[in-house]
Amino acid sequence: MSEDFRTAAHRAADLVSDYLAAVPAAPVWQPMPTAAREALLTLPLPTEGTPLPELLATVEQQILTAPMGNGHPRFFGWVNSAPAPAGVLATLAAAAMNPSSAGGDHADVHLERATVRWIAELVGFPATAPAGGILTSGTSMATILCVAAARHRAAARLGHDLRADGLAGLPPFTAYATAETHSCVRKAVELLGLGSRHLRTVATTPDGLLDPAALAEAVAADRAAGLHPFLVVASAGTVGTGAVDAFDPLADLCAAEGLWLHVDGAYGAFGVLDEAVAEQYAGMDRADSLALDPHKWLGVPVDCGCALVRDAAALRAAFSLVPSYLRDESADGFGWFSEYGMEQTRPFRALKVWATIAHRGRAGIAADIATCTALARRLGELVQAEPALELLAPVRTSIVAFRVRAESETAAAAAAADALNRALPATVQQRGNVFVTGAVYEGKELLRACLLNAATTEQDLKLLVTEVLAAADDLRGRRVES
Ligand SMILES: *Cc1c(COP(=O)(O)O)cnc(C)c1O
Repeated sequence: MSEDFRTAAHRAADLVSDYLAAVPAAPVWQPMPTAAREALLTLPLPTEGTPLPELLATVEQQILTAPMGNGHPRFFGWVNSAPAPAGVLATLAAAAMNPSSAGGDHADVHLERATVRWIAELVGFPATAPAGGILTSGTSMATILCVAAARHRAAARLGHDLRADGLAGLPPFTAYATAETHSCVRKAVELLGLGSRHLRTVATTPDGLLDPAALAEAVAADRAAGLHPFLVVASAGTVGTGAVDAFDPLADLCAAEGLWLHVDGAYGAFGVLDEAVAEQYAGMDRADSLALDPHKWLGVPVDCGCALVRDAAALRAAFSLVPSYLRDESADGFGWFSEYGMEQTRPFRALKVWATIAHRGRAGIAADIATCTALARRLGELVQAEPALELLAPVRTSIVAFRVRAESETAAAAAAADALNRALPATVQQRGNVFVTGAVYEGKELLRACLLNAATTEQDLKLLVTEVLAAADDLRGRRVES
C-alpha cells in the first residue's frame, strides 16, 4: 500500500462530496469548451507515473467540471438518474475488494443472490426457487440473456439441441413487440440470429398498449405460414411515454400458445411500488422473464441491470458451460453466476445495489417513486394549462411526452412545428437551466421529460415549461432573421 493512499482517499472523499453538494446550484449541463474537450481527446500516454494527488487534481479540474447533467434535479433527459449517495460510497469499497462475482464463496456472490431477491421482491416478481436472476451491465444485456433463454427453451421443446446444432434445421422463430418497444429487443433478436424480419411489430390499442387481439392474429398467421412463434415482449414503461402494457391478457395468450412472455421493465418496473399507478402492473408477475435497471429509477450508480427469470434453470440451460477449473463445490446447487449469462469475470455490482436499497428501505424507495409520478402528473397539468403546448399521451408513470403546438392546422404549420420541436432539445440544453431530450412518437417530434429524481421540485417543473417556451421563441426568432 503506497504511503499516500489514505491522504488521497480523504481528499477524494472531499472532492466527491463538494462536487455533489455543488450540483443543484450549477448549470445542469454546458457544452464543453473546445480546449477542454481537446485536452481530453489528446491526452498523451504518460511514460512516467503520476502521483495520486496530481491525479486527483486532474479529476477536479478536467473531469468533475464537465458532467453529463444527470445528477441535477432539473435534468429531465433520457432515463439517466442521479446517483444514490450510498451507492456512490459502495463503489469505493467494491473496487477495494475487487472480487470477480463469477462464483465461489465470498461476500459478493452471496450478496448478489440476496440483492437479486430484493429486486424481485420490490417489483413483486416470484422470488422463490427455482426463480432466479443475475445482475448485468444494463437491460440491454439482461434482454439478450432472457431472449437467449426463451430461444433455448423453444428449441428444446422441438427436440432440437440449439447449443450443438445452432439454428440450422429450425423453422424461423418469430417474436412479437410493438413500435414502442426499446431497440435493445431488436438488437438481441438480431444478435441471436433470429433476424429482425422475424420480430413482428404488433399494433397498439388507441392508448398505446400492445393489443392482445392483434397479437393473437399475428401469432395465428405466422403459425399458418409455417413459422414458429416463441416470444412476446411487453413493456413496463415504454421509452416514449412510460406506458405499461396490460399484462394479464398477454400472459393468458402466452400460456395458451406456449410462448415466453418477456417484460422490459428497464425504466418503469419499479413504478409498481407506487400505489397511485400500481394497478397498471397487474400480471407483470406472470412473465417468464423481466429485465430491469436498478441504475435507472433506483439511482444505483451505473452500471447495473438485472434479469429476473421465472425458471432459472432455463437461463442456466442456455449458458452453463463449466470447465474443470470452475467446478462448483457449493452445497445448494446454484452453481456460478457465470453459468447464467455471458460474462465470466463479473464486477461487484451487488454492493451498490445493497447500499442503495438498504439506505432508503422499501418505504423510502416507494416514497421516492411516488414523488416522481406525482411530479410527472403535475408537469402534465402544467403542459395542459399552457396553450402553446400540447400533451401527446396521458401521463401514466413518470414520462411526460409533450410538444410545442403547431401555429395552425395547415400542413406547412405541422411541418414547421415538427422542425421546431426537433430543434428544441438542443436549444433548451444549451441554455443550461434545464435539460430535456426529444423523441418521435406516432410520427411526431416531441419532448420527453423523464422524472426520476425525487429532489426535483414543482418550481423546477415550472422552469422547464418556461425554458421550453423561451427556447421556442428563440428558435422562431432566429428562423425569421435567417
Ligand atoms: C434504458 C432502457 C433500455 C436499455 O437498458 P440499458 O440499461 O441502457 O442497457 C431498455 N428498455 C427500456 C424501456 C429502457 O428505458
